[in-house]
Amino acid sequence: MQSKETSGTILVIGALGQIGSDLVVELRRRYGPDRVIAADIRPQPAHYQGQYLQLDALDLPAQLEVIRAHHITTIYNLAAILSARGEQDPLNAWRINMDGLLVTLEAMRITGINRLFWPSSIAVFGPGSPKLHTPQDSVMDPSTVYGISKLAGERWCAYYHEKYGVDVRSLRYPGLISYRAKPGGGTTDYAVDIFHHALRQDPYTCFLREDTLLPMMYMPDAIRATIDLMEADPASIRVRSSYNLAGMSFTPGEIFAEIRKLVPGLQTSFAPDFRQAIADSWPGSIDDSAARTDWGWEPSYDLAAMVADMLAQLEANQSFVVPAMGPGSSN
Ligand code: NAD
Repeated sequence: MQSKETSGTILVIGALGQIGSDLVVELRRRYGPDRVIAADIRPQPAHYQGQYLQLDALDLPAQLEVIRAHHITTIYNLAAILSARGEQDPLNAWRINMDGLLVTLEAMRITGINRLFWPSSIAVFGPGSPKLHTPQDSVMDPSTVYGISKLAGERWCAYYHEKYGVDVRSLRYPGLISYRAKPGGGTTDYAVDIFHHALRQDPYTCFLREDTLLPMMYMPDAIRATIDLMEADPASIRVRSSYNLAGMSFTPGEIFAEIRKLVPGLQTSFAPDFRQAIADSWPGSIDDSAARTDWGWEPSYDLAAMVADMLAQLEANQSFVVPAMGPGSSN
């Protein structure tokens, strides 16, 4: 049984980022533009279409006011500092990632509104976790402040569900590939950057080694997984920390070879930097059988289908690409 969004208003915090840019479009398409409010700490961009609020995820009184004034029933909280950027200022990343989640959990407890989506990441795993088909429950010893904050966040989500009945749902996203918004310097960003170089016929130097296997996913699959999870019957959600989620796994060498089938002559080289150590601490592939069993998850895109669609979309819509907020805005 599905529990669809039938009434009330949806608030998306961190809406201007890589995921929010696609999620808001799809939520508005499904539920109607009037029912989805986009919010971000940044001022409303020129030409932004639809309802928009400037909101700091760390500001509890402001969040309570928005919830009450706009009759919010569901929140997607995407605001965070991501992996590479987090390593540049660990205490700030901890503050934003933790307090940003706790403020929303508290706002939900205080107002009694119920449903929250909060994303976790494959970064919750670490060097001690099994590298391949990493299970839902295993050793978790993240070595980045980003991963530590995501693992702690998962435990807070489970705590608020258990103690206060907050209907919080979460996915451990792999690295996400998308065309609408450009990521800005994280550990998996190479898999987006390469497309822009390929279309401009620019040589590309990858910051990871050619054989670095990482779990990845095309954004349309990630958005569908997110909304499917949010629409699932509460009784079927057995994991209240965060679900493993898998799409595909590939190395830089493999995706460059796939792009070269459609863009012959693409030149690539490899110069690993500090992000190599982050990537080396993460799994190469993910076992997402709990998501498949509990709420019917199944990905649509493999590497070849994703590459073909990315190139076609970027070629057709160069104007899709909006600037990233800064380094580290992916995974
Ligand atoms: P992003 O960096 O592209 O976007 C984050 C957004 O949050 C930005 O628009 C930023 O302005 C906003 N923000 C930052 N601080 C804020 C604050 N205090 N108040 C309100 N807004 C604030 O990130 P993304 O790639 O869209 O990721 C969204 C979520 O998904 C994050 O929690 C991230 O950890 C998670 N995730 C992303 C990936 C990925 O590959 N993109 C993978 C795994 C998990």
